[in-house]
Amino acid sequence: MLRRFSRFRVVTAAVFLLLSAAAATAVAAATAVAAATAASAASTRTVVLIVTDGLRWQEVFTGADPTLLNEKDGGIWVSEEDLRKRYWSDDVTARRELLFPFLWGTVAKNGQIFGNQTRGSIAQVTNGKAFSYPGYNEMTTGYPNDAIDSNEFGPNPNASVFEWLNNQSEFRGHVAVYATWNAFDNIFNKPRSHLVMQTGWTLPKKAHETPRDALLRELFATTTEFDEEDSPNSFLQIPLLDYVKTQQARVLFVGYGETDNWAHQGRYDLVLDSAHRFDFFVKQLWETMQAIPRYRGHTTFIITTDHGRGSGLTEWKEHGVEEKGSENIWIAVLGPDTKPLGERSNTHRVTQAQIAATVAAFVGRDYPREVPKAAPPLTDVLPAAAD
Ligand SMILES: [Zn+2]
Repeated sequence: MLRRFSRFRVVTAAVFLLLSAAAATAVAAATAVAAATAASAASTRTVVLIVTDGLRWQEVFTGADPTLLNEKDGGIWVSEEDLRKRYWSDDVTARRELLFPFLWGTVAKNGQIFGNQTRGSIAQVTNGKAFSYPGYNEMTTGYPNDAIDSNEFGPNPNASVFEWLNNQSEFRGHVAVYATWNAFDNIFNKPRSHLVMQTGWTLPKKAHETPRDALLRELFATTTEFDEEDSPNSFLQIPLLDYVKTQQARVLFVGYGETDNWAHQGRYDLVLDSAHRFDFFVKQLWETMQAIPRYRGHTTFIITTDHGRGSGLTEWKEHGVEEKGSENIWIAVLGPDTKPLGERSNTHRVTQAQIAATVAAFVGRDYPREVPKAAPPLTDVLPAAAD
């Protein structure tokens, strides 16, 4: 009896264990299905592509360049001592955080950033030109166009992913471009795309002017233009914040120009200052949107640059085929659907062309299925990314 009982108990126990195992497997399977469903049902409802023009990966990952903190090679007007107080630390991690506190304190911590070549992560443009129009075209259409060989190319013959999304009823009227450079009117083909656009020195239109609008109008009218194509980043930030507060943005492009302009002027002090302020503008936009219920927890930022630049004591000022290394960029992503893998290392190469499909994927659209020439999305930052 005892044996039988024992056996019975053993059998019962075994059956129970089997049942438990089956139940556990079923529960695990259900959990996995739930997780997969949750993962494929992305949280992102609004995606924002933010670009600061011509900001090198070297500054992003290693902070201020010590060889350029001087008048001779960096063209600085402030004292080296002042600049070092603001942006220098012997520790590279602390140094890059001084320059980009939001990018390193929040974006890289809670999201992902690609492009640190010293850690085996390469992000590159594939247009073979490494200047602005070819870069913005590549990232917004998803493929390079060899015919685009000048920033004065004129209206883009190809539709961007922004235009493609704006032609879908779910997004129509909620796709916008806010950028300091008026060339975006051509890059996004404003007359054809019908995107909401605020660019260059065009004054934001307001039906009912607030005192804030009146002040901005006065500043637009009375500020000396750095050049006729580019307004200051600070002038863009005001209508940009007003736009996200008063409208329902679903897909937004934000273009800041100062980092490129000051490098071309050979003013490394102002490259650092404008890079630091760009970081602040991204933080301000993020915090503004997180404070609004319709965006909170449902907004993804993709942050990048249109091209790299040369290196060394002279070529940092310029970019293009002549300046070796100008094809190297960086790409950061922060949002509710992106795993916090932080600073990526030893990854496969990612490209600028992948950004278009990534923008679409975050709002649940398969852009390469519609546009087969477009590069695939950055799967590592998407909810379905494999472990
Ligand atoms: Zn440039």
